[in-house]
Amino acid sequence: MTANRKITILGSTGSIGESTLDVVNRHPDRFQVFALTANKNVTKMLSQCQRFQPRYAVMLNSESAEQLSKAIQAANINTEVLSGIESLEKVASHPEVDAVMAAIVGAAGIRPTFAAARTGKLVLLANKETLVMAGRIFMDLVKQHNATLLPIDSEHNAIYQSLPHHFNGNLTTVGVSRILLTASGGPFRCSPVTALEKVTPEQACAHPNWDMGQKISVDSATMMNKGLEVIEAHWLFDAAPEKIQVVIHPQSVIHSMVAYVDGSVIAQLGNPDMRTPIAHAMGYPDRIDSGVSALDMFKIAHLDFEEPDFKKFPCLRLAYQALATGGNMPAVLNAANEIAVESFLTQRIPFTAIPAMIEHTMQSVKAEEMTTLEDVLKTDAIARDIAHDWLTSLQ
Ligand code: NAD
Ligand code: MG
Repeated sequence: MTANRKITILGSTGSIGESTLDVVNRHPDRFQVFALTANKNVTKMLSQCQRFQPRYAVMLNSESAEQLSKAIQAANINTEVLSGIESLEKVASHPEVDAVMAAIVGAAGIRPTFAAARTGKLVLLANKETLVMAGRIFMDLVKQHNATLLPIDSEHNAIYQSLPHHFNGNLTTVGVSRILLTASGGPFRCSPVTALEKVTPEQACAHPNWDMGQKISVDSATMMNKGLEVIEAHWLFDAAPEKIQVVIHPQSVIHSMVAYVDGSVIAQLGNPDMRTPIAHAMGYPDRIDSGVSALDMFKIAHLDFEEPDFKKFPCLRLAYQALATGGNMPAVLNAANEIAVESFLTQRIPFTAIPAMIEHTMQSVKAEEMTTLEDVLKTDAIARDIAHDWLTSLQ
């Protein structure tokens, strides 16, 4: 059995954060919550502090931290409240911490996730944006500081589980011919392309199988999520882009597959509930109860597969393109996508303008190499400015 792990949960008030705490709650003998962090949801953070009594609670937003601090005092809870990005880095890299769940959404997660890797933690990575923005730099950092990286994203966790135990970072030497990355196809899989112009944020966020945060829900609707996941798989498993095939699988029961040279295809199946990959990574190498109900094959009855439609979902094409260009381009793609999703959610642009904004931004930035986190953050800022300017030019 793994020893009692002290864990920091970055983004504890989000969808992944809450599922993580649900798993923690089932195993008080295995896990101890060291720190919880959030942006500004004081109410949820207070109730999490009451339940889990962490040493630290960090709110990025300083006003929220003040409110939380007062509430924590009034409730007589023994938790220290901090605020700001440096505090996020502090609780991700604290010497007493064994494992860090990186579950902040978007580029905001990169600095604390880097801090965890730099201090050799067990990094449980949900924040795929870190790998999209800074894949090579992050993977080098993990190696250099002897950190352990386990994927939380259900597809990558499934791939990890479908690879041999002796996988050492080289797919060819273990006989892998392809990675089959499954995708549900999102809420608009069957909608005609002409209907996409008019879809609302509510429709885009209503995912058929998964209950997730808003940003990743829109990413699933545009299929950018799968594009980001292609880039994520490239870095995690050192897989050439042409070896990563996206397979539409509407039931979301097969979470991804690995095809071998002998014709074998190994898959990981389960109900679409993030507590399975979370429990897999948190308990690793042990298998622990996640609270997810057993898969009922007779109820599922059918498993369907389709090819992705790159014309209807240009975001998928743009992600492959960014990966092929390499260097700063995936970071540009990611930044422009974040601005585009936010603009769509606040009803400033239609759904179909999301890929247009991203493509414009990618065309406006010169492709170049990046070698440091500072390069990545600079690229991110430049791309955001270009996307914002494009938005202003529309209005
Ligand atoms: P969410 O929106 O539900 O939660 C995000 C969390 O991050 C919240 O705790 C929020 O307070 C915090 N946060 C937001 N902005 C912040 C900022 N600027 N600084 C600090 N903290 C901030 O998101 P989610 O769906 O839980 O997704 C989290 C990450 O996990 C994303 O990278 C997503 O792509 C990835 N992921 C999610 C799922 C899922 O099922 N939800 C599946 C796979 C991967
Ligand atoms: Mg996923």
